[in-house]
Amino acid sequence: MNDLFVANWKMHKTIEETMAYLDAFLPLLDELPDDVDVAIAPPFTALATASARIEGTRCALAAQNVHWELHGPYTGEVSAPMLLELGVRYAIVGHSERRAFFGETDRSVNLKVRTALATGLIPIVAVGETLDLRERGLTDDVVITQVRAAFDGVARTELSKTVIAYEPIWAIGTGKNCDPGEADRVMATIRGCVSGLDETRILYGGSMKAANAASYVERPHINGGLVGGASLDPAGFAHLIRNAAE
Ligand code: PEP
Repeated sequence: MNDLFVANWKMHKTIEETMAYLDAFLPLLDELPDDVDVAIAPPFTALATASARIEGTRCALAAQNVHWELHGPYTGEVSAPMLLELGVRYAIVGHSERRAFFGETDRSVNLKVRTALATGLIPIVAVGETLDLRERGLTDDVVITQVRAAFDGVARTELSKTVIAYEPIWAIGTGKNCDPGEADRVMATIRGCVSGLDETRILYGGSMKAANAASYVERPHINGGLVGGASLDPAGFAHLIRNAAE
């Protein structure tokens, strides 16, 4: 399976900034090996612009969220058909910022995963522990609970289509990345906690940068990265992927 690198821009970049980013970023993708997949997750407002600009390139489009219903009275939400119409391939589900600030729960993550799969979107399910839970020795319990809940009721044959991102919350945006060996150990636990995850890509997320990316993807259970801060600069993100791929 190809490694996958996803740029999670969070609430950054206007349409104009998105165009400037892609003008700089897309030519750099020609230098990358063929066996690496790349996606950007701009804010909803920039998806249409990004979609037109990346057409015919190897860069795919991801959304930062998706609602579980296909339409209805859900003010402020965006549905899977709306994303698919824009050429979106992946949807991040259950990012820790959405769990912490917007009431995302294991139950809503599960509903979103099921809807994504039913409609043809690839969910990128984010899981991870807080520092407090890690210090209390509960890391494995937390991620096992999150992963099992996310895939509850999902057919085993669908699991290889999904992506998981292990993102220790204490490592997100802090510059304190998780030791690659420890991240790999947790990912092995994740892979083993639901039958059928052998072919599922598991990404590391949490202060991944160009200097440490290779030390993650060389591990057996790490199949790429979900990258926040280090993805905001186009040359920096391309550099990170190149370092990891080589
Ligand atoms: C993220 O938000 O998914 C993330 C991993 O952020 P950062 O790379 O900035 O730690």
